[in-house]
Amino acid sequence: SADLAMYHSKEMGRNQLYFFEPGMHKTLRKKQRLEQSLKQAISKQQLKLFYQPKVNSQGQIVSYEALIRWFHPEFGLITPNDFIPLAENSYLINEIGEWVLTTACQQIRVFQQQGTPLPIAVNVSERQLVQKNFVEIVSSIVQNSGIDPHLLELEITESMLNEDLENTRIKLLALSKLGITFSLDDFGTGYSSLIYLKNLPITVLKIDRSFVHEFLTQETDLAIVKTIIAMAKSLSLHVVAEGVEQQEQFEMLMSLGCDLFQGYLFGKPEPLTPPEPTE
Ligand code: C2E
Ligand code: MG
Ligand code: MG
Ligand code: MG
Repeated sequence: SADLAMYHSKEMGRNQLYFFEPGMHKTLRKKQRLEQSLKQAISKQQLKLFYQPKVNSQGQIVSYEALIRWFHPEFGLITPNDFIPLAENSYLINEIGEWVLTTACQQIRVFQQQGTPLPIAVNVSERQLVQKNFVEIVSSIVQNSGIDPHLLELEITESMLNEDLENTRIKLLALSKLGITFSLDDFGTGYSSLIYLKNLPITVLKIDRSFVHEFLTQETDLAIVKTIIAMAKSLSLHVVAEGVEQQEQFEMLMSLGCDLFQGYLFGKPEPLTPPEPTE
C-alpha cells in the first residue's frame, strides 16, 4: 500500500516521496534481470525459432512463420510478447533480429536441400527497419545463406510505418527487387492507411487474430473481416486469416474468399528440426 511504500522510502533515507507497490518492485527487478540475461541469450543458445504453418483452402502447408522463443535457465519458456519489447528498448532487437533472419534462412536452405522449398516469414521490428543499413543487413544474410530470396518473406506492421514513409518505401523496394516479399501483419489494428498499400511493395495482408476470434458471432468483426478480404482481393493481394481455431471459422473464411489460413486448427508454432544434442 501507499503508506508502506512511503515508510520504506523514508527508511532508505530518501527525501523524495514516491509510491510503489511491493509487487511492482519485484516486477521491475525481474525485468532488469531479464534484460541483463537477454544480452547473453544468443551466445548461450537460449533462443529458438518455432515455426507455424500457413495453409491453403485444401489445408496444405504453403509456408511457415518463424516465431521466436527464449528458453531461460531460471524462468523457463518465455514468449516474445514478454521479451521482444525489452529487446526493442535496449537495441538488442537488432542483434536478435539478425539472429532470427540468419536462422530462418538456414531453415529455408534445409528446405531447398530437401527439395521442399517452402517460404518462411520472419517478423521484423520497427527498430530494425529504421536502421540505415537495413537493406544491406538483410541482403547480406540472404546472400551468405545461399537461399532463393523469393522464399524469404518479411512481416511488418502498420504501427511501424508512421515515420518517414518515403525512406521505408525505398528500403522495401530495394529488398523486393532482390525477390524478398512483404506482408502487413496484424492488419486492422493500427492506422490501416491505404497509402501503405498504394506505395509499398506489400503482397499479403494478415487479418489480425482479434477480428477472427469472434467474427462468427460478432457482426462488427464479421463486417471487418469481410471488408479486409474484399479489399485485398480487389487490390490483388493475398489475404491470411490469423488465429483460426475452429473448423466453422475456416469454412466461413473460405466462403468469404480468404485464401490462406494460420492458427491452432492447422498447427501451433513448433520446432521444425530436431533439437541438437546437448553436450
Ligand atoms: P504475430 O506475428 O502476429 O504472430 C502471431 C501470434 O499468434 C503468435 O504468438 C502465435 O503463436 C499466435 N497464434 C497463432 N495461431 C493462434 C491461434 O490459433 N490462437 C491463438 N490464441 N494464438 C495464435 P507468439 O509466437 O507469442 O508471438 C507474438 C508476437 O511476437 C508476434 O505476433 C510478433 O509480433 C512477435 N514476434 C514473434 N517472433 C518474433 C521475432 O522473431 N521478431 C520480432 N521482432 N517479433 C517477433
Ligand atoms: Mg507475424
Ligand atoms: Mg500477426
Ligand atoms: Mg497478431
